[in-house]
Amino acid sequence: MVDLQTQYQHIKQEIDAGIQEVIDSAAFIKGPKVAAFQAHLEAYTGAKHVIPVGNGTDALQIALMGLGLKPGDEVITPTFTFIATAEVVALLGLTPVVVDVDWNTMNIDLESVRRAITPKTKAIVPVHLFGQCADMQAIMDLAKAHHLYVVEDACQAIGAKYTFANGETKQAGTMGDIGCTSFFPSKNLGCYGDGGAIFTNDDALADRMRAISNHGCRVRYHHDEIGVNSRLDSIQAAILDAKLPHLDAYIEARQRAAAYYDKAFANNDKLLIPGHEPHSTHVFHQYTLRVVGADRDKLREGLAERGIPAMIYYPVPLHQQKAYLDPRYKDGDFPVAEKLASCVLSLPMHTELDDEQLEYITGNVLGLVNGNL
Ligand SMILES: *Cc1c(COP(=O)(O)O)cnc(C)c1O
Repeated sequence: MVDLQTQYQHIKQEIDAGIQEVIDSAAFIKGPKVAAFQAHLEAYTGAKHVIPVGNGTDALQIALMGLGLKPGDEVITPTFTFIATAEVVALLGLTPVVVDVDWNTMNIDLESVRRAITPKTKAIVPVHLFGQCADMQAIMDLAKAHHLYVVEDACQAIGAKYTFANGETKQAGTMGDIGCTSFFPSKNLGCYGDGGAIFTNDDALADRMRAISNHGCRVRYHHDEIGVNSRLDSIQAAILDAKLPHLDAYIEARQRAAAYYDKAFANNDKLLIPGHEPHSTHVFHQYTLRVVGADRDKLREGLAERGIPAMIYYPVPLHQQKAYLDPRYKDGDFPVAEKLASCVLSLPMHTELDDEQLEYITGNVLGLVNGNL
């Protein structure tokens, strides 16, 4: 699905030098490399504040803690996403309210959000799924009208750009009150372990979340509130700082592979290519087909036999996960998400795909769905 070894070989010198510098300095936690990466990521994203943290899940948790939400407060999230989005809501004793997604873009469905708002709703957590921004104009308008916070789950969408009705363009993670991203190795900007970051343009929220991420501490050994221990370590920051200058080229490589896939599959009626959000660019964390006229699981097996990995993101929507079963929800309540879970298939997507590999993958996918192989 990804080829991190080949990617590393291209930038080995920069990465190795960065890691060595951290080891020589012995500044492993909160060192200068973290501060440098933070500043470079602020410049890249346009976010006023970047708060580096331990991983994307912690970023989401610290965001909700920073907003001061209380048990019983409702937080709206899509039911078709990675578990972390709702996990932190549940962990904090808040009430996850799940909603359906759009069939074409697979992002949160606005009509469903509108219907889910109650007097207890405090926040919406849209997920920019697979690398394109949800409809942020509509989400921000709705949030404003109902006095709700917006926390963007931009873990899959760093570098994606969204253009608002007034012509203003902003990056994924920098449009809501808070944005969260992940540097998990396979993410579009991945480190060599765990890492994450929080974005905000609000000074007070930034100060609060920075303290929460470091044991609720502003002055050493003085704890203003209950926090967590979630810091990006200096070695990961050095790796990310070496990779950040390449992020735009990485995004272009992914978009090029996606365009190859689109072209190959556009006229096949058994496969639906990913639908695009009209106001967002797509950075293709995943390239996800909907297999509508063939057996998705047989296709996946056939590809595996030919040495082609393909993954199902995600096989079970949140409301059908054992740990999250809830009498408020039953099977059939979120028909689009349930249909997607039964038909999505993500193909290999990374920065190192060449034409020969793309030809082999697309040829085999088409051969299998058309019954020629
Ligand atoms: C990866 C991911 C997360 C969690 O990030 P980690 O760094 O793995 O904790 C959260 N939400 C989404 C949508 C993700 O893809």
